[in-house]
Amino acid sequence: MSDTVQLIKEKLDITEFIRGYVQLTPAGKNLKGICPFHKEKTPSFIVSPDRGTWHCFGCSIGGDVIAFLMRYENLEFIEALKVLADRAGIPLERFGGTGEKQYAILYSINSAAKDYFQEEFLKETALAKSAREYLVSRGMLADTVREFEIGFAPNTSDGLARFLSQKGFKMPDIERAGLVFKTERGTYWDRFRGRIIFPIMNAFGKTVGFTGRVLPLPAEALAKEGAHPSVASGMALAKYVNSPETPIFNKSKLLFGIHKTKGAIREVKTAVLVEGQMDFLMAWQDGVKNVVASSGTALTKEHLQGLQRMADTLILFFDADEAGQAAMERVIDLANASDFSVKVAYAKGEAKDPADIVREKPGELYRLISEAVPATRHYFKRYLTGPAGDFGALKRGVRVVLQKIIQITSPVERAAWIRELATETHISEEHLFEELKNVSQKNPQFQKAGTQALAVATANEELSRHFMLAERFISLILREEALRESAKGQTEFLPEPYRELCGVLVSHGEPIQQSILPIHIAPLFEQMSLRSSLIDGDAGVLRAEFDEVVRHLKKEHYRSLQEEWKKKIKAAEASQNEAELASALQEFDRVSRKIYNG
Ligand SMILES: [Zn+2]
Repeated sequence: MSDTVQLIKEKLDITEFIRGYVQLTPAGKNLKGICPFHKEKTPSFIVSPDRGTWHCFGCSIGGDVIAFLMRYENLEFIEALKVLADRAGIPLERFGGTGEKQYAILYSINSAAKDYFQEEFLKETALAKSAREYLVSRGMLADTVREFEIGFAPNTSDGLARFLSQKGFKMPDIERAGLVFKTERGTYWDRFRGRIIFPIMNAFGKTVGFTGRVLPLPAEALAKEGAHPSVASGMALAKYVNSPETPIFNKSKLLFGIHKTKGAIREVKTAVLVEGQMDFLMAWQDGVKNVVASSGTALTKEHLQGLQRMADTLILFFDADEAGQAAMERVIDLANASDFSVKVAYAKGEAKDPADIVREKPGELYRLISEAVPATRHYFKRYLTGPAGDFGALKRGVRVVLQKIIQITSPVERAAWIRELATETHISEEHLFEELKNVSQKNPQFQKAGTQALAVATANEELSRHFMLAERFISLILREEALRESAKGQTEFLPEPYRELCGVLVSHGEPIQQSILPIHIAPLFEQMSLRSSLIDGDAGVLRAEFDEVVRHLKKEHYRSLQEEWKKKIKAAEASQNEAELASALQEFDRVSRKIYNG
């Protein structure tokens, strides 16, 4: 593998390549430009032709040409390598026996499978016909079907497997591509059977996986045409089946349709996000060319990072039902934390989702999208609806909205929304800021954001000592990998959510990827990573500081335990529970000794 990588890097001029994305001006023997990965006005992005690397001093990231492309286009290593190999005129397949051949074959298999599904789609079988009829009934035009190469998987147990093996592909490779799976008897079955097939392409239009939608027919009808045992089982009839993750298909990064829409998204700096393939395709058909959808997974932080390089505004158009609204709320929170300007578009009238709107009233979707309202305004509508005079409901509603406002990254925008909220509720800004403080204290992960929001109006508020130590602890182990081993035994001394984050950090080697982090601690991780880049000092200095931080952390930890046991002692005294009191006193004594003896 490394030979190929080297060869590709030698053949490609990094300056020329990056110039395709960033305007560069000479800076000594290097070149500089405006960093494409963070917002800035003066250049802190440097390309070093000698070393074949780039680096941004603003966001402290850098690497080689492969790392640049991975980041810019949100690609996996092997995907980026494939693009660069094509550019350099080096076919990956030529490198026999090594890793890249293994990857390259996955592209070839997926591409051949796509052809197979397309051929099957056009056949005159009853099922293929009903697949075509279904799409027509949803209002889809033939042009859309062709443009997105929609196909059909017949209801046979191994039609695709046989097709691909006749093409010379080996069964274990087809299995790695996620298109077949091995049964207990050692035979191979197609993953997609009796389904409409939507090919999923990466940003460069290469097929990397599929989504199969079941035909809206009763199970008996399916079983009649190519009987096989699993048809009647629930698994075969799940509404959607997706390709599994493979080395070329990362669900948490890939957005459906991005190969067609990235240009339009970059142009208008706005992406319209919908919930699935049907909504995407119908929106596209209706003239919304800057649309994307996640495929086979909920939207992740990584999806948003990819979009952030193209757009600064996100318009969400989700199903009108409760599930759709809840999913949307989750995405709004994520997007706010990523510094997107987030808007929400609504269905009006009977139609529930974008696909139905397009079918019922072509042209309408475009208009609804242009009327999208800011997400915070949407929350006002959703949560401040209690009857007049019901102050309990008002308080709860205001708290929920404040929780949302806290998550907005920009302090200016937060302050502006507080002002709006004051107007909306007739509660003074001062009182709202006070309430915001309560809300932020209950959510340590938002404490910093809450603090920043408060700083706009009132004096700065400090994190508690325990939290400050925890932040320093995490920053240190992020900065100095060697400290991670020592951090393993210390995780328990951190308060949540630092404890959870630390648990993930110490159990994974470099590099930490966003995808392994639970969503609620991802923003904290990002914050800590940035903070860690500001830490200076050699390994010895950092080690000494680490030991000192650990010593204090332990004390803080036992102090908070001490407080807890104090409360339990009081409770046991009040309820005159002798046994509980005795054990609480004993525990109190134990943690007190820890504080003084270490
Ligand atoms: Zn940067």
